[in-house]
Parts: sequence; C-alpha cells; structure tokens
Amino acid sequence: MPELPEVEVVRAGLARHVLGATIVGVDVLHPRPVRRDPRGPEGFAAALAGRRIEDARRRGKYLWLPLDNGDALLGHLGMSGQLLVQPRDAAPERHLRVRLVLAGAAEGRNLHFVDQRMFGGLSVSAGGAELPTEIAHIARDPLDPDFDDDGFVARVRRRSSGVKRLLLDQGLISGVGNIYADEALWRAGLHGERGGDRLSARQVRDLLGHARTVMSEALGQGGTSFDALYVNVNGESGYFDRSLHAYGRQDQPCDRCGTPIRRVAFMNRSSYFCPRCQPVPRARRTPTIAPSASPD
Ligand SMILES: [Zn+2]
Repeated sequence: MPELPEVEVVRAGLARHVLGATIVGVDVLHPRPVRRDPRGPEGFAAALAGRRIEDARRRGKYLWLPLDNGDALLGHLGMSGQLLVQPRDAAPERHLRVRLVLAGAAEGRNLHFVDQRMFGGLSVSAGGAELPTEIAHIARDPLDPDFDDDGFVARVRRRSSGVKRLLLDQGLISGVGNIYADEALWRAGLHGERGGDRLSARQVRDLLGHARTVMSEALGQGGTSFDALYVNVNGESGYFDRSLHAYGRQDQPCDRCGTPIRRVAFMNRSSYFCPRCQPVPRARRTPTIAPSASPD
C-alpha cells in the first residue's frame, strides 16, 4: 500500500511531466475506478475533455490536478494504484483502467491510471481546484509546510485515545500510516496505547518530530525515480527494508536495547514495539474497553 512519501513522489513526478498539458482524450476502460464520480464514466470523460492541467497537489494520500475551469481531477491510489506517464504508443498495462491522452505541454504522452485491486480511483471534483470538498475534512500532513504543530499538540492532549490511534486519525494528522506510526513511537520511546491526555506537550512535540523525520527519510530514499519519465509507485520502497526499527521486526532484537520486538493486533493490523523502550501504560482507573474506531 503506498504510504505518503510515495504518494508525494508521484505528485512531484506529475508536477514535472503533466503541468500545462491539455487533456484531449479520455478512455474509461473499467467503470469501478470512477465509481465515486456522480457523472458516471461518460460524464467523467466529458468533464475532462479539453481541460488544461494547471498544477499537481496533495492532501494526505489524495492527489489532485487543478484544471483551467476551476474543477479538479481527484485521485487516490488505494492499495495498488499507479499513475504512469507513458509515450502515446506504449502498450497498455495489464491493469490499465483509465487513459488520458495529453497534448500541449505533454504532447505525445498519455497519463495511465493502472490499478489491479481497484480500491483507488479517479473523479472530477466540481470547483475543487483549490481544495476538493471531498477531502476538505482531511488534516494536513506533517510534511506540509502549513501543518499547525501547536494545534496538533493541543488537540492530542485533549483526547484520551491511545496515541497511535490519534496518529492514524486523518482528521487530526494525515498520511502517517501504520508503519510510520510504529517507527515514530519507537523513536519517541512511547507505547501506542498511552492516552493523548497522559502525554506532556514536549512528548507530543517530540513524537511529531520523529514522525516527520521518518517520513522525510523515506521520501529521500524513495526519490530515485523522480527524474524518470515513468512516474511510478508500487508500495515497495527500499526504505522499508533498510531503516525500520520496529515495524515487521517481531522477535528480532530492539536496535536500542536488544529486547525482542513484540507484535500485537491493532485495528485489523499489527503494532510492533519494544516492551522495554516503550513500556505498556498502567491501566486507567476507569479502563477503556475495546475502544471504537471513531474519534472520542
Ligand atoms: Zn528497546
């Protein structure tokens, strides 16, 4: 599953290769990836025809291309989505779902949306050039220069949920994801079940700094394909193999203290932590049983 740094690689690649391009043809080869567009596949194609791409932006893991009429092409890569800039005569990929034929600044190229599992998709957001209303509820991510550190610290400290759950709350902070959350918590020496209201401002700020560092490092290491025409994301960043201290390291010694890393179930996924560096918090007087997935 593409994590935020990989989506940022895609955004940067799109900014490089499709800015100023005019969309002169749209082929929807499977209806599912455009299911969120209320116009249907034909309306989706008609809404894009003749439009010029003005920018490439991102909020969390959503990408959007502002168009010259104030609308936007909004996309999410889901589990397996790819956006590929290809020569016009390139053979179609096996899982090619939507093809945009480009002219103008990207004459002779196509933009391909390829998605095997089709959890991702594309839609046209009416008036969404500045910020699509469909994603306006999603908070900024820690790599966004306008992220509000003080506001984040204050909001975390008002919540009693476990801090890992808060890191994954897209209304509070976007794009952190399960892997980066575990890594940031390991670096901060915090257990993910520690309540936000049990943390000092310094601890939350420190954790945010670690999340930012982990994601920046991944972005740096994922940048090798930046200059290629082939704009790719496959969820297989080399970062994951080389630099992880907690995630996926069950029973391996902690890089800091040698204690075996422990894995526990967490929201249909897993959490990895060092039981010594990240001690399990003491139970509250009023224990929270089976916390729900919704915000407090
Ligand atoms: Zn340790």
